[in-house]
Amino acid sequence: MNVGGGNGISIDFSDYWARREEDRAAQVKTVSMRELQNQFDRLTLVTMAMWSLLKEKTELTEEDLLKRVEEIDLSDGKIDGKFNPQTSTCPQCGRTLSARHNRCLYCGYVPPTGDFAAFIMTTPPPMDDQDKTSI
Ligand SMILES: [Zn+2]
Repeated sequence: MNVGGGNGISIDFSDYWARREEDRAAQVKTVSMRELQNQFDRLTLVTMAMWSLLKEKTELTEEDLLKRVEEIDLSDGKIDGKFNPQTSTCPQCGRTLSARHNRCLYCGYVPPTGDFAAFIMTTPPPMDDQDKTSI
């Protein structure tokens, strides 16, 4: 994949993503390859636009970017090329929390640190049986 073009931007994710190829191969069987390709192309475009802006307007380097990618990948508990956080229970209202949002969608609870995703990662999964059936 050449995402650099003639604009001087070149990010080499090949090593990083090559390690995840086998995991992804199993998933894409159920989805149209054309649809995936369209989504991938769009995401690539937007990602390159964001990165070119950041590089232009800040002191960030490609090393910084790759380091952050690995950190976020690992933040859900495993290095697998994805950010797929598990859900946990809100200590205030007892409902399910999602790391995709920065607060409890039901009662508005925000953890003291303000880092909602990190809070959910470090909260032990609920032990009662009722959560196993409510997905
Ligand atoms: Zn809540």
